[in-house]
Amino acid sequence: MVDYRDVWVFVEFKKDNIRGISFELLGKAKELAKKLNEKVCVILIGNNISKFKETFSSHGIDKIYLCENPVLGEYLTETYSSILVDLTQKYMPNIILFPATKIGKDLAPRVACTLETGLTADCIDLDIQDGNLVQTRTVYGGNYLADIICSKTKPQMATIRPNVMERSEITTKNQPEIIEFLIDIDPNQLQTKVTEKIETTVSYVKPIDEADIIVSGGRGIGSEENFKIINTLAEVLNAAVGASRAAVEAGWVSKSCQVGQSGTVVCPNIYIACGISGTTQHLVGMKSSKKIIAINKDPNAPIFEVCDYGIVGDYKIIVPMLTEALKKKLSQD
Ligand SMILES: Cc1cc2nc3c(=O)[nH]c(=O)nc-3n(C[C@H](O)[C@H](O)[C@H](O)COP(=O)(O)OP(=O)(O)OC[C@H]3O[C@@H](n4cnc5c(N)ncnc54)[C@H](O)[C@@H]3O)c2cc1C
Repeated sequence: MVDYRDVWVFVEFKKDNIRGISFELLGKAKELAKKLNEKVCVILIGNNISKFKETFSSHGIDKIYLCENPVLGEYLTETYSSILVDLTQKYMPNIILFPATKIGKDLAPRVACTLETGLTADCIDLDIQDGNLVQTRTVYGGNYLADIICSKTKPQMATIRPNVMERSEITTKNQPEIIEFLIDIDPNQLQTKVTEKIETTVSYVKPIDEADIIVSGGRGIGSEENFKIINTLAEVLNAAVGASRAAVEAGWVSKSCQVGQSGTVVCPNIYIACGISGTTQHLVGMKSSKKIIAINKDPNAPIFEVCDYGIVGDYKIIVPMLTEALKKKLSQD
């Protein structure tokens, strides 16, 4: 096989900022590159992004592939995938890591398919064995973990779930090599264009993987109608709404709210679990939260074994009281 070298991280931007998951990928990429004795590199694609070169120079990386152009201000599968394919064919990385976000999940398969290589989606861990990338992910509805390797084709590609890896630490500044990749795209020739962006104003539809605070409801909430009690508390706290699989399967909330083994792994500053018993499959998705508050009417519910603060009682009484008290407090601050 031709000499494919180095570990690349695709950096995702959101609202002119680097998304946190990029630093989680970078933390793992540094570890993998060290084991392989290869370089760790980031790929920056977008508009007005050269300013982020500084940020990465404090993360001990070796190279930055920079592709900057006004036409890249908005993510488009067409432009981003063709740039990544060109970059990969030219510089031949050994490994490319993508976030398992909407963009990463859209982009990585396109690139892998064009390059005729493999891709493991939604990995929760990565390691190196015999020079191969070992990609760990859950299978069969979350009942098993599978270690997957892609030994016959390169690059080895994976998307990684947010909040499962340690972030890259800031180190002493170095001078990474900057490789500018120039493109010549005529916007009029593109098959798709973004004509309008409509931002949601409803706070409780915030994505759970990015929220600082999550208010979650389980089967104990009882109905879709009752979930309004959870939504109201979430709105007051500017939090996201999460749920157990039982609540999702009952059709009270969307699947995107599901926290846990077969849902999203979250790590907010505050996780408020209401009417959730705390089964292992739920706990694996939220137990790294900084502070866990549980409200459950059963004093023996397992959630009380992992929480920092526990309230035994009916959420229908406790949550509205909490909402009112917080509303008052926040309006005074
Ligand atoms: C392969 C696999 C993957 C899975 N993946 C996930 C996953 O990703 N996420 C997930 O959550 N689950 C997952 N599950 C399901 C998991 O096993 C549990 O079934 C589920 O988490 C239970 O949800 P729950 O805690 O809301 O419901 P329950 O276990 O039924 O608990 C409801 C709780 O509400 C309390 N309650 C009832 N009424 C009130 C009230 N008025 N006030 C306060 N408390 C009240 C009860 O005391 C009880 O503790 C998975 C299962 C399998 C087999």
